[in-house]
Amino acid sequence: MGAEFYQFFLNTKILFQPGISGDFTNELSQLKIGSWLLVTDPFFAQNGVADKIRAGIEAGGYKVTGVFSEVPPNSELKVVQSCIELAKQGGAEAIVALGGGSAIDTAKAANIVLSLGGDLVEDYSGTQTIPRALNPLIAIPTTAGTGSEVTSSAVIFDEGTQRKLSFNDAYLRPSLALLDPELTLSLPPKATAMTGMDALTHSIESYTSVQTNPMSDALAMKAIKMIHLNLLKAVERGSDLEARSEMLIAANLAGIAFDQAMVGIVHAMSHATGGIAHVPHGMANSIYLPYGMEYNLAVRTERYAGIAKRLGVDTTKLDTMGAARAAIQAVRELRASLKRLCGLPDRLRDAGVQEGQLEEIARTAVEDGASFFNPREVVYEEVLGKIREAY
Ligand code: NAD
Repeated sequence: MGAEFYQFFLNTKILFQPGISGDFTNELSQLKIGSWLLVTDPFFAQNGVADKIRAGIEAGGYKVTGVFSEVPPNSELKVVQSCIELAKQGGAEAIVALGGGSAIDTAKAANIVLSLGGDLVEDYSGTQTIPRALNPLIAIPTTAGTGSEVTSSAVIFDEGTQRKLSFNDAYLRPSLALLDPELTLSLPPKATAMTGMDALTHSIESYTSVQTNPMSDALAMKAIKMIHLNLLKAVERGSDLEARSEMLIAANLAGIAFDQAMVGIVHAMSHATGGIAHVPHGMANSIYLPYGMEYNLAVRTERYAGIAKRLGVDTTKLDTMGAARAAIQAVRELRASLKRLCGLPDRLRDAGVQEGQLEEIARTAVEDGASFFNPREVVYEEVLGKIREAY
């Protein structure tokens, strides 16, 4: 049976163009904000890109009150707090975020308090906690992975509990996403590989979740094909602007897809592994993806068979189960190529996870919000079995 009900809503304007991050004053004039804080990570503060973006904003007659450049990978609550303080000190009305998911999520979380006041964790962690629209936020992604520039969530590490804390609300979607593939040319091969696998995981999990809809399906399928055709190229030849462009768009499509349809067991295991063993999100997703697909194989056979075609498998001589298994095999082969090309680990032990942490990871994964959207119940003993296999 087809869909009985769905809704699709995206309040982010998306602009794609090589070089767009250097001049977007037309867009600024529509947002009617006089003073901006630029939030980025140390890499972009040092390589001159943050300065160029600052100069572009100022050339349009707008004030940049400061540049917060202390965002680490997997940003933390204390970093968000410092960002809020700098924004308040300079009197910034709104934020431009430049960087990967960590910089964008830091800006999203800071923007909540900047717009509404209150305590970030006490008042706003969790789902649908934001009572009204926030100040405008411009997101300029520099990795082709998280899709955070269009999603309604932010993920921040809580140093106190040693867990990743999530904030989920439609008001968290940035007002404007500027997709400039030139900014991704500097992303090293391994980071390109892991963030690309993050986008692939978003696409596959959103296409097989319990909350899919025709819009998210279309976006996810397009993204899978684009990633299949371009990820290895972008890893092998980082200067390939076409492959970089396709990957940035694919990650964006995948972000919209999973923001609507949600994700599943792979993300549940990755969130837990990121919090407990500090494995980068994309790397954890890459390690777990085939195991999570096997977990759901019996209940998503037809969907995996459809994915196989987008991953370049000739399915004409295969039955549905054969094609579904071939999709999982294609993901394994992609991971093997990435391991060969840039050393992306395909086992937890090679990503710094200790065997003694596996049970805690499984317990945490079962309780993770992503588990509730998985098409099969996430059961402790079974998930632990998959985590042990991935070890
Ligand atoms: P990241 O932002 O943590 O960046 C990783 C590293 O890559 C950093 O050292 C950064 O300086 C560097 N980098 C980024 N772009 C670069 C470039 N173009 N050239 C050279 N170096 C560059 O990586 P990420 O994978 O984009 O983000 C991960 C974070 O996003 C995690 O905290 C994860 O939980 C979160 N996340 C959020 C969402 C969401 O919807 N909000 C979705 C998925 C993941």
